[in-house]
Amino acid sequence: MSDCLFCKINSGEIPADILYQDDDVSVFRDISAQAPCHFLVIPKKHIATINHLQPADAGLLGKMYLTAQDVARQQGISESGFRTVMNCNDDGGQTVYHIHLHVLGGRPMSWPPG
Ligand code: AMP
Ligand code: ZN
Repeated sequence: MSDCLFCKINSGEIPADILYQDDDVSVFRDISAQAPCHFLVIPKKHIATINHLQPADAGLLGKMYLTAQDVARQQGISESGFRTVMNCNDDGGQTVYHIHLHVLGGRPMSWPPG
């Protein structure tokens, strides 16, 4: 999608601190890190929100979590633990309308979220 920030990161048009990329997903550090380790896992395919997911996207979502697992291990936060979050629409706190899995670690997380 031409006016989507994360599609532009996928294509390389906008630079990012890329940790991993393949045909299905990109992983890059969040520009406004909320934890010592904070990265985003996004699909190459433009999907605006969780509400737009189709049954055919089930494998892609699984791949996003398996990629989060791999990169979390590479970043050294697997054993201490981490939080995954995918926000949806205004009340969920979504600001970029291309789905992304936040992975945050390197400090204890509180619950519930504010
Ligand atoms: P959300 O509020 O869940 O939609 O999350 C969007 C996230 O994207 C925020 O945590 C932002 O800090 C992050 N973000 C926005 N622009 C960029 C960028 N150019 N590179 C990396 N992360 C970004
Ligand atoms: Zn997009």
